[in-house]
Amino acid sequence: MEKLREKIIEELIRALGDPSRILTEDFDLFSYSFDASFGVFKPDYVCQPLETAEVVSIIKLAGMYEIPVVARGTSTSLSGGPLPIKGGIVLDFSLWNTKLEIDPENLTAIVSPGVITADINEKADEFGLFYPPDPSSAHVSTIGGNLAENSGGPRGLKYGVTRDYVLGLEVVTAKGKVIRTGGSTVKNVTGFDLTNLIVGSEGTLGIITEAILRLIPKPVATKTAMVSFDDLVDSGRAISKVLRSGIMPSKMEIMDQHSIIAVEEHALLGLPTDVEAILLIELDGHPLALEKEMELVSNACMMVNARHVQVAKDDHEAAQFWRARKLVSPAIAKIKPTKISEDATVPRSKIPEMFQQLKRIREKYNLHLVVFGHAGDGNLHPNIIADARDKDEMRRAEKAVEEIFETAIRLGGTLSGEHGIGNMKSPFMEMELGKDGLHMMRLIKEAWDPQNILNPGKIFPEPGQGFELSHD
Ligand SMILES: Cc1cc2nc3c(=O)[nH]c(=O)nc-3n(C[C@H](O)[C@H](O)[C@H](O)COP(=O)(O)OP(=O)(O)OC[C@H]3O[C@@H](n4cnc5c(N)ncnc54)[C@H](O)[C@@H]3O)c2cc1C
Repeated sequence: MEKLREKIIEELIRALGDPSRILTEDFDLFSYSFDASFGVFKPDYVCQPLETAEVVSIIKLAGMYEIPVVARGTSTSLSGGPLPIKGGIVLDFSLWNTKLEIDPENLTAIVSPGVITADINEKADEFGLFYPPDPSSAHVSTIGGNLAENSGGPRGLKYGVTRDYVLGLEVVTAKGKVIRTGGSTVKNVTGFDLTNLIVGSEGTLGIITEAILRLIPKPVATKTAMVSFDDLVDSGRAISKVLRSGIMPSKMEIMDQHSIIAVEEHALLGLPTDVEAILLIELDGHPLALEKEMELVSNACMMVNARHVQVAKDDHEAAQFWRARKLVSPAIAKIKPTKISEDATVPRSKIPEMFQQLKRIREKYNLHLVVFGHAGDGNLHPNIIADARDKDEMRRAEKAVEEIFETAIRLGGTLSGEHGIGNMKSPFMEMELGKDGLHMMRLIKEAWDPQNILNPGKIFPEPGQGFELSHD
């Protein structure tokens, strides 16, 4: 066994030609054993490729010895995506951030997989252009991870998600072939849409080694309002009311009372802690249009019982409003050490009902359940704050999460609006897709990766697999 390991390490070193980018010591492997979700799974080897040919060599080697290969950006996944749950090779792409080329003539960007998402928009900005997808993790997550998870963010409401900005990909298949999908053109209907198949496939169908992204002109100006509600359900009604008033905000985010109190205790921003919810609404466009549009948005909110609409007087005040939303995650993490972050998503019209159900689930399981998120597109983030050392609390949390998923699906929603399935939500896939729907997905996986070496144990449930938060 040890001999085989030594042989594989030798061959990996030969494939990369650089031993410093192959990590095999126990303490290094441990650093690659977790993500931002649950469970610790150590890989056997970590490789840090810097070019496509290196990925090809590693995949061919993995196929020869039937070793699992798990791609990894910066491991911020909240659903277990980059966890090497069957061991094997982790392909760490975080060093491969060498290409970030903007083509202002064609409004495109070409990027290597390890480029940090926020850097793309920053670079585009130099050309008066805009890369809209903005996961809250944008300053740490990689574009490879975003593509594999089809990540979204607050701007998803108006601008869509990562998938909507991908024109083409370079992908290494499970057999070590390099394919190009899509291209550089905005329109492309040649054959099956493999680009869209790969985006959101969570590293189970192929390894993304390059992407051509679509950019758009940068909006001229923005305007933000903070709207408070005495009743959480009214805030849900306000979302539909605003959207039906003919205005499409660029962001519409919600914080419930528990999030507001947590932020206020964390940072003293002067938020109203006696309201049940705050909506943060951003409009973008021409400054003159924004004045009138904000008036319409304010009226729509007041019609469904908003207590107060505060329009930011300048960019500085707007940034302060958004600071409150950004602080929710760190603020609630201070309450208890274990944060179970979900992203069950419902049709917009069902948001008021989802809020009521979440209230019920919170009481039924006696848990610290906080709700915030991208309310404008129905993508709520119910977060349970618990302590993993408290076994009883974790069991209740598991039950509560199951009930959150069941409720979202019953209301016509989905298991995941943006965090992906990974190994965490795979036990629920059949509930959403049905037996036949899941079977069609399995057929695709089997055709693309017959040896099941690419990120095994993800998306598809293993026989008898249940939902687990604590792996003891
Ligand atoms: C504080 C916080 C806030 C977050 N906010 C958001 C949010 O607003 N919206 C959102 O959508 N998500 C959010 N996330 C989740 C996470 O940041 C995203 O899923 C992100 O896309 C993961 O990127 P990553 O580089 O960390 O990828 P990883 O976590 O390393 O990997 C994610 C998946 O991508 C695969 N993968 C990585 N690189 C490649 C590649 N080159 N080819 C093929 N597969 C690959 C991995 O195998 C894995 O399945 C948040 C996470 C945290 C911790």
